[in-house]
Amino acid sequence: MLPTEEAHDLLALTQELCDRELTGKAAAYEARAEFPREVIRTLGRSGLLGLPYPEEVGGAGQPYEVYLQVLETLAGSWLAMAEAVSVHTLACYPVFAHGSERQRKSLPDMLGGELLGAYCLSEPQGGSDAAALTTKAVRDGDEWVVTGTKAWITHGRDADFYNIFCRTGEPGPRGISCLIADAGTPGLEPQKAENVMGLRSSAPAQIVFDNCRLPSDRLVGAEGAGFTIAMEALDAGRLGIAACAVGLAQAAVDYAVAYAKEREQFGRPIAEFQGLGFMLADMATQVSAARALLLSAARLKDAGRPFSTEAAKAKLFATDVAMRVTTDAVQVLGGAGYVSDHPVERWFREAKVLQIVEGTNQIQRMVISRALVKG
Ligand SMILES: Cc1cc2nc3c(=O)[nH]c(=O)nc-3n(C[C@H](O)[C@H](O)[C@H](O)COP(=O)(O)OP(=O)(O)OC[C@H]3O[C@@H](n4cnc5c(N)ncnc54)[C@H](O)[C@@H]3O)c2cc1C
Repeated sequence: MLPTEEAHDLLALTQELCDRELTGKAAAYEARAEFPREVIRTLGRSGLLGLPYPEEVGGAGQPYEVYLQVLETLAGSWLAMAEAVSVHTLACYPVFAHGSERQRKSLPDMLGGELLGAYCLSEPQGGSDAAALTTKAVRDGDEWVVTGTKAWITHGRDADFYNIFCRTGEPGPRGISCLIADAGTPGLEPQKAENVMGLRSSAPAQIVFDNCRLPSDRLVGAEGAGFTIAMEALDAGRLGIAACAVGLAQAAVDYAVAYAKEREQFGRPIAEFQGLGFMLADMATQVSAARALLLSAARLKDAGRPFSTEAAKAKLFATDVAMRVTTDAVQVLGGAGYVSDHPVERWFREAKVLQIVEGTNQIQRMVISRALVKG
């Protein structure tokens, strides 16, 4: 499954890090809804926050195929941390691909994990119809003045830099630009953390922009190119969410199998009952299929070929699988699956968000069906 010896070592290292630093902490941080900034720092120091970016700019130069398997490993240990790596990787994309010489000077700190990123696209009045966004940036001399509200922003209260997709021109996608702002800029006001169902250690927050002034050189890429930049970043980001889904689902299968081998009813381990064994078989098969679809999309990206539709398929399929498999894992544990003594209850709640973020699964179906019809 892995292309190089180096990739093997990287995955072994990630697993070690998960066992040492992540798995044992997840349940308590999730219960307290506390963001573990020091765990993110550890991930950064271990080189996991810039994996798919070139070494020349401070990344690790890994193919997507490898990066996604690292994410899968992290997700099997603590989904919120895998999602944090995926969102941060996404947030580094605009400056990496479209940033000015000066903006790109920050890349080593971004990719080394010194600076944590947020990606601000969604708004209270619309997430799916992103091209209708209303947060506005108006030129005033040498500055942009940003007003509006962004919603559901992962790392909203903890990020060091924010990509802001905002309207600088006409209605529709061509009137959108991308600006980058530092945390603490006056007028950039993170709100309280949302009271979310899962991923509680990394709860999103609204960001209010109240006449937030940014120097004109904070424009990333050309004026009016923001929507294209946002969609390019999301294409790759969707692969990250699919990898998170595969990791979570695999953890649920492993846990359910181990439980079913131990738990006895009618004098036998419940795994020996065909009704349950077939359920486990279906769970494992779905996860393998999701992983295969994800890796085939990743290999297209690594080969420099169009991968956007395949990424949408992988995100759709893998996240639906994660929801089904975590639901079945709760069933395998019976009553024990419904209480927080076992992690499957939390994984079931966490799976749900993967069907919503970075384009809901209805939007993925729209992307796929449009590509089919266009031919
Ligand atoms: C935990 C969490 C973290 C997030 N992190 C970020 C982040 O870091 N940055 C960011 O910008 N956003 C983030 N989001 C926002 C997320 O991307 C949006 O919630 C998502 O895109 C859906 O937008 P919405 O919530 O406005 O739902 P809506 O767009 O209002 O959709 C509501 C329902 O209508 C359906 N729907 C909408 N349009 C269509 C259509 N044309 N056809 C069929 N069905 C349709 C949707 O699928 C959905 O089921 C996050 C959300 C959550 C919950």
